[in-house]
Amino acid sequence: MQQRHMCKCAKVTFYEVEFKLSGMKVIPTHKNCGEGLNDDQFNSFEKELVKYWGFEQK
Ligand SMILES: [Zn+2]
Repeated sequence: MQQRHMCKCAKVTFYEVEFKLSGMKVIPTHKNCGEGLNDDQFNSFEKELVKYWGFEQK
């Protein structure tokens, strides 16, 4: 995995997250610090992300 800066904020709310397109991938980024979310943070947002995009998991 490519080394990149990760958000280290203790608390990130879904509304502070911006989704940036990078090629074919979407990079979830914390607006407050400008860093990408780490895996733990991203996992906690995955369900909200699905709703945000209007996808339903079946
Ligand atoms: Zn942050």
